[in-house]
Amino acid sequence: MNQKNTILSKLGYLKYRPLQEEAIDALCAGKDVLLAAPTGGGKSLVYQSAGLIRDGVGVVISPLIALMSQQVDVLRAKGVQAYFLNANLQPSEHDDLMWALRNNHIDLLFLSPEKLVQPTVISFLQGIDISLFAIDEAHCITQWGGAFRPEYSQLGQLRETFPTIPIIALTGTVDEQTINSIQSSLQMKNTLILKSSFDRKNIEIHISQKRKAKLQILFFLHNEMAGESGIIYCRSRKKTEELSTWLNELGLPSLAYHASMSDHQRQSNHRRFSSEPGVIMVATTAYGMGIDIAFLRFIIHIDLPDSPESYFQEIGRAGRDQKPAKSLLLYGLQDMLSAQQLSSFQEQYFETTKPKVNNLFRIFEERGCRRKNLLAHFGEITEPCGNCDRCLSPATEQNVTIASQKLLSLIYHTKGIQPFSVLIQILLGKNTKAVRAVQGQKQSLFSKGKELNEAQWKSVIRHLIAFHYIDVHQERAFCIHLNEKSRSVLKSESQIVLTQ
Ligand code: ADP
Ligand code: ZN
Repeated sequence: MNQKNTILSKLGYLKYRPLQEEAIDALCAGKDVLLAAPTGGGKSLVYQSAGLIRDGVGVVISPLIALMSQQVDVLRAKGVQAYFLNANLQPSEHDDLMWALRNNHIDLLFLSPEKLVQPTVISFLQGIDISLFAIDEAHCITQWGGAFRPEYSQLGQLRETFPTIPIIALTGTVDEQTINSIQSSLQMKNTLILKSSFDRKNIEIHISQKRKAKLQILFFLHNEMAGESGIIYCRSRKKTEELSTWLNELGLPSLAYHASMSDHQRQSNHRRFSSEPGVIMVATTAYGMGIDIAFLRFIIHIDLPDSPESYFQEIGRAGRDQKPAKSLLLYGLQDMLSAQQLSSFQEQYFETTKPKVNNLFRIFEERGCRRKNLLAHFGEITEPCGNCDRCLSPATEQNVTIASQKLLSLIYHTKGIQPFSVLIQILLGKNTKAVRAVQGQKQSLFSKGKELNEAQWKSVIRHLIAFHYIDVHQERAFCIHLNEKSRSVLKSESQIVLTQ
C-alpha cells in the first residue's frame, strides 16, 4: 500500500474522490491548489492527507474557531497529532506544543488568521518544517476585505515569507471573479484550480414575475407542496412574522426565524422545524449557515437574494436527500429597484466590494435555461437542464425593440425624472392624477404603448436595466440616464428580445 492509501485508511475512508486525489497529488508535487466545492464536498480530507504525506507540519488557517476544535478532536481520535494553537492554552500547554512543533512531532496545526499573522507566530513558523498551508473559507479574503477580519487580507504575506511551501485555498460556491481575487490576494503561483460542479440536478428551478406574491405562494404550496417542509426567504424581519402568522391562520403550520428573536426562540423554532415534517419556516437569511435538514422539499424566495452565490446556496438547502425538490423565486421591477438602491447605499457607506446583485438581474433576465445561465456565472458550461421553468414549458420570445424605443423616447422627453409607474401610465394612456400632475397626457407618446400591458412594460424595463440599456440612479433623487446602449436601441442598431 502506498503512503497515500495508508493515510486514507488511517483517516477512516476507503477511497479518495477524484477531485481530492488530484488536489493531493498537486500539493505533494509542491504546487499551489485552489479547491472550490460546495459544503460537504470533502475539502478537509485534502489538506489532512497532503499534510500527513508531506514532511513537516500542515498549517491550517480557518476563521471558524468552533469548527477547528471539533476537527482537532476528531483527528486526535484517529491517532493524528492535531493541535489547535489559540490564546486559551495554558502556558505549560503552549510550551509543550512549541517544543513538539520544533521537534517535528505534530502533523497538523490549526489556528485562526488573527493568530497566524502575529509576528511572533510567523517567525516561529519560519524556524520549523512546514508541509503546507491550508486556508479554509478563502473567499473571506475578498468578501471581508478589511472590514471584519482584516487579518485575512494579510495572508498574502505567506507566499513571500514561505516561497517554497505549497498553499491550498479552500472555498465553497464562488464565481470566477472571486476565484481570481483569491489567487491574487494570496499571491498564488502556478495554481491548480479545481472546481466541483455546483449543480444540484434534483432541484427544479422556477423564477416568476411577482404579481400577487402571497397568492402565488399559496397556489404553489397548495398545488405542488401540500404537507411538505420548506423555507420561505424574506428580506425583512417584520415580514417573516407577518407571513408566518398569515400561513398559520390559513391552517398551514409555520414558524418564523430572524436575527432579532431571542436565542431561545430561534433554537426552539429550528428544533421544531428540523424534527417535525410539514412545517414551513419563514426566515431571513439569518437562517442558513450550517442548516442541514435532509427532507426539505422547497425553497421560496419572496424577495431577491443578495447575489447568485447566495441564491444558489439558499436553494441548495432543499432536496439534500437527493429526491426531487423545487425552488420558486418571485421578483418584479420594484424588487430590482429596491435592491439596486440598497446596493448603491452599501457601496457608498460600507466600502464593500461591489455588490453582486446586478449579476443576479442579468442571470434572471437572460434568455434560455435558468440553470445553464446560473452555472455559466460560476464558469460551468452546460446543456439546457430540462428541470427549470424555461425548459419545462418552452417560453415564447417577443421582439420589443419598438416598445423599448417608445419608452426610451419618453424617458428623454420627461428628462429621466419620472418614476417608471408614471411612464407606464402615460404609455397606456391612463388619465390618472399622477399623469395629469406632470402633464403626461400632453406627451406625444400618451396612449401610444397599448400593445403591451402593465406587467409586460415592467418586464421590458427590467430587461433594459439588467442589460444596462438604461442606468437608474437613486442615491439622492430618482433619475434615469440614457447611455450609448440606449442610443443604439433608438437607432434600431440593437434589438430587444424578451422571453415570457
Ligand atoms: P467540506 O469541508 O467540503 O464541507 P468535509 O470535508 O466536511 O466537506 O466532508 C463532508 C463529508 O464527506 C464528511 O462527512 C466526510 O467524512 C465525507 N467524506 C469526505 N471525503 C470522503 C471520501 N473520500 N469518502 C467518503 N466520505 C468522504
Ligand atoms: Zn433548464
